[in-house]
Amino acid sequence: MGKYWNEQIECMDRDQMKALQSERLVKQVQHVWDNVPYYRKKMEEKGVTPQDINGIEDLYKLPFLSKADLRDAYPYGLLAKPLSECVRIHSTSGTTGKRVVAFYTQNDVDMWEDCVARAITAAGGTNDDVCQVAYGYGLFTGGAGLHGGSHKVGCLTLPMSSGNTERQIQFMQDLGATILCCTPSYAAYIGETVKKMGLTPDDLKLKAGIFGAEPWTEEMRQQIQRSLGIKAYDIYGLTESSGPGVAFECECQHGMHINEDNFIAEIINPETGEVLPDGEKGELVFTSITKEAFPLLRYRTRDICVLTREKCSCGRTLVRMAKPMGRSDDMLIIRGVNVFPSQIETVLLKMSNATPNYQIVVGRENNTDTFEIRVEITDEMFNDTIRSIEELERKISQDMLSVLGIKAKIRLVEPNSIPRSEGKAVRVIDNRKLLD
Ligand code: ADP
Ligand code: ZN
Repeated sequence: MGKYWNEQIECMDRDQMKALQSERLVKQVQHVWDNVPYYRKKMEEKGVTPQDINGIEDLYKLPFLSKADLRDAYPYGLLAKPLSECVRIHSTSGTTGKRVVAFYTQNDVDMWEDCVARAITAAGGTNDDVCQVAYGYGLFTGGAGLHGGSHKVGCLTLPMSSGNTERQIQFMQDLGATILCCTPSYAAYIGETVKKMGLTPDDLKLKAGIFGAEPWTEEMRQQIQRSLGIKAYDIYGLTESSGPGVAFECECQHGMHINEDNFIAEIINPETGEVLPDGEKGELVFTSITKEAFPLLRYRTRDICVLTREKCSCGRTLVRMAKPMGRSDDMLIIRGVNVFPSQIETVLLKMSNATPNYQIVVGRENNTDTFEIRVEITDEMFNDTIRSIEELERKISQDMLSVLGIKAKIRLVEPNSIPRSEGKAVRVIDNRKLLD
């Protein structure tokens, strides 16, 4: 098996890809117009008909869809196929607000799994691999997505789901898992537990990890790679556009290739909706051009990101998206300053004595926002002198100020006092919401 799952698509000439996207977009717009009254109405309100869409150059004419629309149309309002042709439902993990549901025909499931197969292949996976899927199974798309992709590639698939971490590691060892798939925060926890169990990466056969479903920093990647002795690949996706596999990382670990034969990506200015050129930071918008049951056009992900079409040395021509720095709704506004949890993670993981276990607590006292960062220190540090602990506290405090532009109260806490995540990590406790 080669290093691409579908070389013809993944390395397609750009003009050819554009033509393919245009052809699929035109068909998709007609399909939606004919079958989704909710979106048809939106098009009518904007004065657009399928005749106005002759290729991707016309994409900008279409109205956006947002999470609010999905909630509005819940549960069946955006369905484009009769339920008799649908074979699966998934739902968002509800990280931010009410869940939304998405529907799949058999073709939709096949397309999705094919995208994940590309990701697994890009991470070096073949039918000789043992792939341990430790994303949650269920309504969440993580488990099902990686499971399906792993089957497609022909890996020996270990459907572990998340949790029960020691048993996870026991199986990993006994059955010689070579690829681990889970959220990055769970991977970090598994790495920590491996050490606690008195094992080293040499006791495991793992070579690669495919981690996604939440934002994680480059520093976090280095940590996980060290603790598990692997190469860690990012994977991106969202329930609304099928699940993980919308974009995947290659061996260059320098942005995720978007599966453009199925998803057209745009970056827009979140305030004005204006389409931004490559290289500019903005909100990521996806148009699903092959999905049958739940074909969202110009769906606003709220993920803040940058696209690049620079050549990648892996040979793929698919556009790349940078690691999203978080959703616009993950962004905290503290004393008027915008703060992303990922910025805090970057600062912490640059310090040798801090761990990736942290929590951000925001509150309000006397009409002013309070901002505390709780950071777990390492066991070694815990036994250190008070002076060196104070020094660490001061150092973190200074670095946070220079990166965030706002002062945070740093509280170093004992090893193992911050809850570990088996799925998507909860980094922020915003007590202001309770006060509102
Ligand atoms: P929810 O919106 O409830 O979290 P999903 O499970 O569908 O539901 O999550 C999709 C979201 O997860 C994306 O919009 C994005 O914010 C985040 N995400 C997924 N993969 C990644 C990744 N590799 N890096 C950063 N964020 C990611
Ligand atoms: Zn590449």
